[in-house]
Amino acid sequence: SLYFDFCASTPLHPEVYDELMHSTKQIFANPSSVHDMGFEANLRVEEARERISVLLQVMPNEVIFTSGATESNNLAILGVVRAWAKKTGQIPHVLTTQVEHSSVYNCCKQLVAEGVEVTFLPVDRNGVVSVSTIEESMQPNTVLVSVMHVNNETGAIQPIQEIGKLLRNKPDIHFHVDGVQGFGKQSLLIEDIDLYTLSGHKIGGPKGIGLLIIKETVELAPLLYGGEQERGIRPGTTNVPGVLSMATAIELTLKNREETMRVLTTLHDLVYSKLVTIPEIIMNSALPPLSSPHIINFSYIGKGITSAILIGILAKQGIVVSSQSACSSKAKASRVLMAITNDEMISSSSIRLSLHESVSLKDAEYLLDSIEKMVNHVKTKNKFELL
Ligand code: PMP
Repeated sequence: SLYFDFCASTPLHPEVYDELMHSTKQIFANPSSVHDMGFEANLRVEEARERISVLLQVMPNEVIFTSGATESNNLAILGVVRAWAKKTGQIPHVLTTQVEHSSVYNCCKQLVAEGVEVTFLPVDRNGVVSVSTIEESMQPNTVLVSVMHVNNETGAIQPIQEIGKLLRNKPDIHFHVDGVQGFGKQSLLIEDIDLYTLSGHKIGGPKGIGLLIIKETVELAPLLYGGEQERGIRPGTTNVPGVLSMATAIELTLKNREETMRVLTTLHDLVYSKLVTIPEIIMNSALPPLSSPHIINFSYIGKGITSAILIGILAKQGIVVSSQSACSSKAKASRVLMAITNDEMISSSSIRLSLHESVSLKDAEYLLDSIEKMVNHVKTKNKFELL
């Protein structure tokens, strides 16, 4: 089958695979152990941290390894909020958007349940939050602004650099960015960002490894209590093969960024320009530069059937796509699309195509053929035959 769900996960980059296999076998000692083998493992971890810090232009001690982006997002949000609440004894306020990934959105919902004030800001028809709305929504007790770089469902690019500038003169408000889907596609300076999330398996690395950049100025309470690993911010035995592979994945992703974007743009333009010509298809992704070319989200509203049925019809032709993010695939209408369109029909009949540099033009043409066949299939059947 042909896979078009690269936002859910990517295949391991061959060089990352070699690194992962080699280090899993060879570097098995615990890097916190004080013997020579532990010391050697620790050296490799610190080398990897150093390489990542140079690539991301941060300090090595600002790189904290986690089990993935879900943990990084929780650590950033809960960590900052709890540290501030404890220090001041006041109720904190968090600013975020209605279109964040569930690991940010549900974390903020949990904070609401615990009595924290959270503002979920709306987005426009392109899925973009307005910087002036962020500015207007700030309160004296605002401690954190959390906005993702690239949306995982639609590809919408948020004005991260502008938000960073706005917050530059407000040292009491920390700025967190979920960079998972933007990394290696859209360039970004983390200069004005206090907390920055990345995930290994979205960039050709393995699952179960991620990182959170935590700038030195940030006070943060840990989520877990245990040993002294990761400066005590994230205790637990270090995932050595994960860390080493993550460093390689980051290196390769940045090295190949321009070529990757060239390929993705060609694929995007071919697919997008065809889809807009098909009646009853509604595009939910804006065009670049408002949206990243690796994600194309559209709804097929003919006959009013849901994403699951459309995905099933495509699956019969060997096409693998998704509707929403894998993390919220059980929901009916997409929360993110509801925030963008306020239309139940559009939000429950969406398809997310996510592309990768390994996809050929021939594959993309087969995908388009399959979508046309899907549309014709739906047109010639009555609704009950499709269910
Ligand atoms: N944030 C975004 C934007 C994502 O797309 C994902 C993956 N669906 C995550 C966070 C969670 O990443 P992980 O699988 O590493 O927990």
